[in-house]
Amino acid sequence: MSNRLPILPIIGLLVVAAFPLLPVPPFWLTLVNNIGLASLVAIGLVLLTGVGGLTSFGQAAFCGFGAYTTAVLTTAYGVSPWLTLPLSLLMGAVMALLLGFITVRLSGHFLPLGTIAWGLALYYLFGKIEILGQYDGITAIPPLSVAGYAFISSQSIFYVIWGFVILTAIGATNLLDSRVGRAIRALRGGAQAAEAFGVNIVRAKLTVFVFAGVLAALSGWLYAHMQRSVNPTPFGLSMGIEYLLMAVVGGAGHVWGAVFGSAVLLVLKEVLQRFLPDLVGTTTNVEMVVFGILLVVILQVAREGLWPLLTRWVGVKVRERQISKNASALDRRALPQRGGPLLSVETARKEFGGLVAVNDVSFRVRAGEVVGLIGPNGAGKSTTFNLITGLLGLTNGAVTYQGQAISGLNPRDIARFGIARTFQHAKILPDMSVLENVALGAHLRGSAGVVRSMLRLERAEEATLLAEAARQVERVGLGPLLHRPAGDLALGQIRILEIARALAADPALVLLDEPAAGLRHAEKQELSALLSKLREEGVSVLLVEHDMGFVMGLVDQLVVLDFGTLIADGKPQDVRNHPAVIAAYLGGSA
Ligand code: ADP
Ligand code: MG
Repeated sequence: MSNRLPILPIIGLLVVAAFPLLPVPPFWLTLVNNIGLASLVAIGLVLLTGVGGLTSFGQAAFCGFGAYTTAVLTTAYGVSPWLTLPLSLLMGAVMALLLGFITVRLSGHFLPLGTIAWGLALYYLFGKIEILGQYDGITAIPPLSVAGYAFISSQSIFYVIWGFVILTAIGATNLLDSRVGRAIRALRGGAQAAEAFGVNIVRAKLTVFVFAGVLAALSGWLYAHMQRSVNPTPFGLSMGIEYLLMAVVGGAGHVWGAVFGSAVLLVLKEVLQRFLPDLVGTTTNVEMVVFGILLVVILQVAREGLWPLLTRWVGVKVRERQISKNASALDRRALPQRGGPLLSVETARKEFGGLVAVNDVSFRVRAGEVVGLIGPNGAGKSTTFNLITGLLGLTNGAVTYQGQAISGLNPRDIARFGIARTFQHAKILPDMSVLENVALGAHLRGSAGVVRSMLRLERAEEATLLAEAARQVERVGLGPLLHRPAGDLALGQIRILEIARALAADPALVLLDEPAAGLRHAEKQELSALLSKLREEGVSVLLVEHDMGFVMGLVDQLVVLDFGTLIADGKPQDVRNHPAVIAAYLGGSA
C-alpha cells in the first residue's frame, strides 16, 4: 500500500489554478478556455471511440443540442442558466439515446457513416429552424452568474470550464476503472465473451453513447454562456471531425489524453494560423495544409496517440489494482442436488445452409458429473456448445436446464442460470490485465451502475469482485501473472485464464472447449486435478477434449459425435470399445 500524495495531479491542479493569474495575452486565455470546452467532447469520444470502438464524427451536433437548449430557454423564456444546465444535459442524453438506438446496431463502417449523416443533417436542421434563429443564431445569451457575480471575463469563466473538465475527467477515469467500465472496455473485440458472462452489449453501447452525448451537451452549454451567442457553424461536421482527431491524437484510450489532444490540436492550429501566413508570405490556406500534414505525421509516429508516449517519457507507472485482503466474500450459488438431471440436450439440430453441423443430437449431463464430448474435427462439438450457451440458435430441438427450456434465450440470460464457458478460439481482452479479464467473469455478481461507479461509491462491491477474481486466478495457478496484460500470456495460459474467468461466475455448469490444447504434461495434470476438485464441490463440467488419456481418466460419461451425429453415449470404458467409435475416431490412434 502506498500512502504518498498523488503528486502529479496536485501539481497539475495548481498549474491550472494559477494560469489565469499569470500575465498571459488574452487570446491565449481564450484558447485555453476553448481547449477546456473541446476536452469535454473529446473525453466523451475517448469512451465512445477509443475504448468502446464506436467511431463518431457527429459529436459536434450534441454540443449544438446543449447550446441551443440553454440559448432558447434563457433568451426567449428567461430561465436561469443554472436551471437550463440539467435540461441541456437531458437533451444531450435523449438525443444520444435516440441516435444511438438507430446507429449502434449498424456494424463496421456503417456506424461512422451513420454519424456523418446525422452530423451533416443536424447542422442544416439547426440552420433552418426559426426559433433557433436560423443561420444567424441566437444572441444576447446571459452569462453564468453566482450571487450577483457574472462570469463574463475569460479569467472567470476559465475556472468554471476547467472545474467541469477536471470533474469530468475524474468521473470518466473512475467509470473505466469499474465493473461497468470493464463491460465498456469489452465492447471493442470482446463482445461475445462479455455477453457470455451476462454483459448486455447493446446497453453498454448506449451507455457510452449517452455518456459522450451528455459531455458534448455540457460543452455546448458552457460555450453558449461563454460566447453569449450561438449559430450552427461550430456544431457542424467539420468540428465533429476535429473532435475525433483530438481524441485520436491525444491517445484514444486515455481520458487525460483527450485533454492533451485537444490542447495539441488547438494550439497547433492557432500557431499555424497566426504565424505561418506571414512566414510564407501568402494568405491562402497554407496553414490548413501544414496542419493536415502534421496530424498525419503525429499519427504515424504515435499510433496510440501522444498521451502514452508522454506518460512513458515522464515515467508514470500504471498503478496495479489493489486486492483487498479483507473484502467480504461474494454470495455463492446453491448448487443442484448431485446426480439429479441438470442439462438436457434434446434432438438438437443446427444447419448452416446445406451443412448439418449438429444432427438431432440428444444427451444429458447430471449434476456433479464431468461429461466428455469428443469426436473428430468438424464433428459439431463447438457448435453444440454454442447451441447450449445461446451463441447460436437451434434449427430444431431444445435445450433444458433443470427442467427449464433455455433454448431461444440470449447468452447473457443463459449465463444467469450459472452456465459459464470457455471458447475454443480464446476470447480475451489482450490489453486488460489477467485480473480484469477474470473479473469480467464475475459481472453478474455485482450490480453497480454508471453513476455509482463515476462517484466511486461502489468500491466495496468492486473490492469483493476483484478479490474473487484474484482468488480464481490463484486457484488455476496464474497468480504470478495477475497484473500482466492478458495478451502477454502463452496460448495454454490463456486457455487457463478463460477457465478462471468461467469460475469467477460461480457456475453450476462449466463448458470447456478444448481446455488442455497447448498445455504441457504437468499442466494437464494440474488441470485434471482442478476439474476433479470442481466435481467434488458439486460443479458439473462438460468438456470437449482431444487428448484421450486426459479424458478417459477424468470423465463420468462420454458422448461421441461424428459428422454432427451422436454415435455413442455412456461410461468411458464402454464407449471406448464401441465399434462405431473405434471406426470413426479411435481407430487410427488405438
Ligand atoms: P468441432 O468443434 O467438433 O471441431 P464445429 O462445431 O466447430 O466442430 O463445426 C462443425 C461443422 O460446422 C464444421 O463442418 C464447421 O465447418 C461447420 N461450422 C461451424 N460453425 C459454422 C458457421 N458459423 N457457419 C458455417 N459453418 C459452420
Ligand atoms: Mg471445436
